[in-house]
Amino acid sequence: MPYKDPEKRKRYSHKYYQEHKKEMSAAARQYRQEHKEEIRANHRQYYLDHKAKMNAVSCQYRKDHREERAACDRKYYEAHKEEALAYQRQYYKDNPEKMRAQSKRRDAKRRARKANTNVEGLSLDDINRILEAGCFFCESKEGLTIAHDIPVSKSGDTTKPNLFCLCQSCNSKMGVKNLSEMLSQTRLSFN
Ligand SMILES: [Zn+2]
Repeated sequence: MPYKDPEKRKRYSHKYYQEHKKEMSAAARQYRQEHKEEIRANHRQYYLDHKAKMNAVSCQYRKDHREERAACDRKYYEAHKEEALAYQRQYYKDNPEKMRAQSKRRDAKRRARKANTNVEGLSLDDINRILEAGCFFCESKEGLTIAHDIPVSKSGDTTKPNLFCLCQSCNSKMGVKNLSEMLSQTRLSFN
């Protein structure tokens, strides 16, 4: 190394690189070609050693660049549609249990979204169970909402004992009355 001063050394190696750019990148390319497997194994090992951190970083990156990533994913998907579908089909076949569980979860999520209510603190299973019963009054399975026995406006909470399932039409008839109030006073009008 011709210089002890790190600044000088930096300038020197930068200059050297500028002057020998072509040779150096050809050499690097050559090296990569010859050590392909080794490099891949190294990358893999590095990934395994730093998995959690790398996943967190890429997760954050995806969050920060959501639109770009989505556009990119879409483009990739369009270009590799057939492969992706074939892979997906195979995956379905190989993992029927997982797929059933996943579709159940997705279903529960969709229904919870549809129920369009504040159900924080409830697990999807809980929500699912509430919705599965159908409307509390007419047993309809359409247009379900999760209603509060004691309304939120009267400081009812969103825990399970205060929640039950109503279809939209019964929900609108119920207004802001308590369920228990309703049961004693106006049940007949629901039948
Ligand atoms: Zn109903």
